[in-house]
Amino acid sequence: MPAPPRPALVEADTPITALRGVGPALGNALAARGLVSVQDLWLHLPRSYEDRTRLTAIAALQPGVSVQVEGRVEAVERAFRYRPQLKVALTDATGTLLLRFFHFRAQQAAQFAIGARVRAYGTPRLGPQGLEIVHPSYRLLGEHGHDLSETLDPVYPAIEGVGPASLRRLIMQALDHLPEEAALELLPEDWLRPLGLPTLRSALLTLHRPPPDADLAALQAGRHPAQRRLALEELLAHQLGLRRQRLALQAEGALPLRGDETLVARLLHRLPFTLTAAQQRVYAQLREDLCRPRPMLRLVQGDVGSGKTVVAALAALLAVADGRQVALMAPTELLAEQHYHTLHGWLAPLGVRLCWLAGKVTGKARAQALQDVASGAAQVVVGTHALMQDGVEFHDLALAIIDEQHRFGVHQRLALRDKGRRGVPHQLVMTATPIPRTLAMSAYADLDVSAIDELPPGRTPVTTIALAVERRPELIERIRLACAQGRQVYWVCTLIDDSDEVQAQAAQSTFEALQAALPGVQIGLVHGRMKPAEKQATMRAFKDGALALLVATTVIEVGVDVPNASLMVIENAERLGLAQLHQLRGRVGRGSTASTCVLLYQGPLSALARQRLDTLRQTNDGFAIAEKDLELRGPGELLGTRQTGLASFRMADLGRDVDLLPHVHALADRLLREAPEQAERIVARWVGGAARYAAA
Ligand code: ADP
Ligand code: MG
Repeated sequence: MPAPPRPALVEADTPITALRGVGPALGNALAARGLVSVQDLWLHLPRSYEDRTRLTAIAALQPGVSVQVEGRVEAVERAFRYRPQLKVALTDATGTLLLRFFHFRAQQAAQFAIGARVRAYGTPRLGPQGLEIVHPSYRLLGEHGHDLSETLDPVYPAIEGVGPASLRRLIMQALDHLPEEAALELLPEDWLRPLGLPTLRSALLTLHRPPPDADLAALQAGRHPAQRRLALEELLAHQLGLRRQRLALQAEGALPLRGDETLVARLLHRLPFTLTAAQQRVYAQLREDLCRPRPMLRLVQGDVGSGKTVVAALAALLAVADGRQVALMAPTELLAEQHYHTLHGWLAPLGVRLCWLAGKVTGKARAQALQDVASGAAQVVVGTHALMQDGVEFHDLALAIIDEQHRFGVHQRLALRDKGRRGVPHQLVMTATPIPRTLAMSAYADLDVSAIDELPPGRTPVTTIALAVERRPELIERIRLACAQGRQVYWVCTLIDDSDEVQAQAAQSTFEALQAALPGVQIGLVHGRMKPAEKQATMRAFKDGALALLVATTVIEVGVDVPNASLMVIENAERLGLAQLHQLRGRVGRGSTASTCVLLYQGPLSALARQRLDTLRQTNDGFAIAEKDLELRGPGELLGTRQTGLASFRMADLGRDVDLLPHVHALADRLLREAPEQAERIVARWVGGAARYAAA
């Protein structure tokens, strides 16, 4: 007996245009979505499934549960209520269901003859006349009916310019060219088996052509073993990509520092405090990194107020002692400005020359600053992102310090690479948004992570209370008392509207209301629409104690440091996320007076908002809050996905698949060690163009 003809083996990289029926137009539409090779089609995975393998009796329908029904048209009505609509009553032996259409053609309406047999698929909802399906997909059946589907129907993410039916046909065609297991599989079998996960080939077939007995609930939830198999590989590809970037960067080498601690010792001697054990430990790690001939790539996590700045200053002094340059960058002018003042206060007395370079430094001042940076006259350069712009040439940049990492992206960090004249600059990234360890390993696989996990002594933990907005008059009374005792108060106006303008207005009216309610109290106002000079003058007045109450928008969220401020009011606290509330709260509790944070909320609270406020009342520990945040919000938001690129997973979902991460990390280690070429292929399969871009 002759063997059945087998489809020709197609290499994964075969262009889609080699498939039957794919002309230039279709090819372009697919390419616009990144689908270029046959393999890309294999990995274009269904976003949901429709079960047309069975029929459900109309009497058994439940709102919200998608089903397929079959019945006869009992009545048809065309109505105009605000807009034209078509209502078709469908009856089977058990009951009647309404199909409702708002968009339809006359010819379509005419198909629904009384008595015609119709099979419809959709999600019932409760309408004015009982259960109905709006815009079901449907077909008219002849008298002999029609076979039911044999597999669940995959629903693919739509691609502009490609109809769903032809997309499906194409994917099915691409699947006919799936190579044998051995040619496709890139993960070691002894890894997959203990995890109970199928091979890639079988996973892809299951997902694109799920058999009728497949666990639909698991598939819809993204927890089917076939989906987890793909999520594992995708997370692995991402991890390998980041690690590879790191290896490439380190291969370029850096000029090691000598580790000369003369200046360090002098600063430590002058400081009014001694370092905490955690600060000492992290500083020692940095020094060790900096003395190696490859670039340091280290993230320092430390809760608000843990004292990251001084650790950064010590690292900077190691570079300065070698006659080399340091850049410190912060995400906002306000914060950069404050760093400048802090560093100036610490370093200038040691004879270190500092330079301020923000986007708003223009004209002559800018030309001078640029020249100082280029000649090496400036040893420590402080500024915003502007520091990474092309026009800025360093004489000999040894160390780049980036504060508040969550606002910087991987790509911005990569841009730093080219700023060094002698090797790649060492990089120190600091963040006050701690993230759980497993996530940190995924998001920052290209960085070593250390933590300042201890607050300086003498801090009294902040007491946090939640207060309904109706109790504002009492609160204002309390503020009057606090100010009379010489305490300083922040009043933070927050709005869901991100626009500076709307926020500024709200802050302005709160400012006026508080001025009226608190005669005799010196009140200041800062918001994002003010000129930097005005903002700074107000901040300075608050810091100097000339102002007792500061009304502010969330511009003060990061880094602002006024140790005497011991009361903070956060308006609309119910609308903010945990991380942001924790950041804001970190502005108080920096001195030795017992501090209070009042979360003013507008009831009634949603369950989620209540949990957030409760969490804040219960703990001051940034790491505990980060864990809770992860649980409540999911990692995408936690990490600020737009910048990390973590949102663009095809299959994986960090929230759902977080339990896979330890396997992913261990597997990445093993592959890089034992089978680097395999690792390359995994990255190419999943990340392809994006990885090429990042490595460029
Ligand atoms: P963050 O980690 O949030 O950036 P900062 O570096 O702004 O914290 O430090 C917060 C405050 O704590 C600053 O006023 C700083 O001078 C002070 N500080 C830092 N380290 C210590 C320490 N070991 N003992 C006492 N105060 C410290
Ligand atoms: Mg800071």
